[in-house]
Amino acid sequence: MDRLSRTTEILRDLIAFPTISSDSNQALIAYAANLLEDCGARVDIVTSPCGTKANLFATLGPERDGGILLSGHSDVVPVADQDWSSDPFEMVERDARLYGRGTCDMKGFIAATLAMAPQFASQVRERPLHFALTYDEEVGCLGAQHLAQTLQARSLTPRVAIIGEPTEMRVIEGHKGCYEYSTHFHGLEGHGSAPDLGVNAVEFAVQYVSRLLDLKEKLRGMAPAKTRFDPPWTTVNVGALNGGVAHNVIASKARVDWEMRPVQGGDADFVKAALQQFCDVELLPKMQAIYGEASIHLEIVGEIAGLIPADENEARRIVMELTGANDADVVAFGTEAGIFQALGTDVVVCGPGSIEQAHKADEYLSLDQLSAGLAMLDRLGGELEMQSE
Ligand SMILES: [Zn+2]
Repeated sequence: MDRLSRTTEILRDLIAFPTISSDSNQALIAYAANLLEDCGARVDIVTSPCGTKANLFATLGPERDGGILLSGHSDVVPVADQDWSSDPFEMVERDARLYGRGTCDMKGFIAATLAMAPQFASQVRERPLHFALTYDEEVGCLGAQHLAQTLQARSLTPRVAIIGEPTEMRVIEGHKGCYEYSTHFHGLEGHGSAPDLGVNAVEFAVQYVSRLLDLKEKLRGMAPAKTRFDPPWTTVNVGALNGGVAHNVIASKARVDWEMRPVQGGDADFVKAALQQFCDVELLPKMQAIYGEASIHLEIVGEIAGLIPADENEARRIVMELTGANDADVVAFGTEAGIFQALGTDVVVCGPGSIEQAHKADEYLSLDQLSAGLAMLDRLGGELEMQSE
């Protein structure tokens, strides 16, 4: 069986595991573990704190620090309310395209790495080759954060990581972070005719939003001198503001849902520290002067680190060589890459398929793209044969 057919066969199996983020991915992980163990990889399966999901980390070659990591997330987005032409969890080949939930985002890349594993096993020399499959990428990169802890506990930092999200095989060296929060305000209910006897959570939430908008403007002036992000500064969005019950009731509860998309390290901390200070020095004392139990609570919904383009990036050098790309780019969507970068690993995002097809009904991966992904991995195998760390 040729390599593309074998990859397609594995992809068909992967698609048949309905690994929507809310459900277990353990059957898929066991399947991948089998394939990797069959070619002699050392496989580590780490169960999630909730017990229903797992990360896989596997290594071919010597047990030591460094090496090259091929990483993908095993979960997919839901199919509910989408109008599919065929069963999303039964892969269908049509017009040189493979249709199914997760084909491009990002089981195609995973299938390619698994199909190449037997060849890699015969090619790996001094430089270890690692495989990572994570859970819950689509809901806050929880699995990758867990994997990062596992690697730190093992004192293992991959030298280079390739995250195979769909980039149409373009080499991506940067994307903004995505930090999401809900800020909860708890005040004291009362009659609207006597505002001084209550603590109006909505009114304090509005002051908080106002401060956030000041910071939003400040961030515009803090854009790094040379950056390719669009817009080039860290953005803030207030997505929802909820609170209160009626015209004549002092609102006891309010909630602000907001996000920021940092372009550089430090911006998120700057905003969070400024808000904390504003709450501690201005808002809370006023609220608690009337009602001692009034509170403001910042709930972290998700903090997905950005991938910050680096001057030196061995992953970029290697993958540009493997793909023949002349340049590296930045994209608007987030990935797990920043989590690996924070470990000290050089990272790029590069994989088959287009983000245009991700998350939609009739998601597909073209056979051309899958072949291009395989060709990149094939050349990586050749590199492994020649390289020492
Ligand atoms: Zn993805």
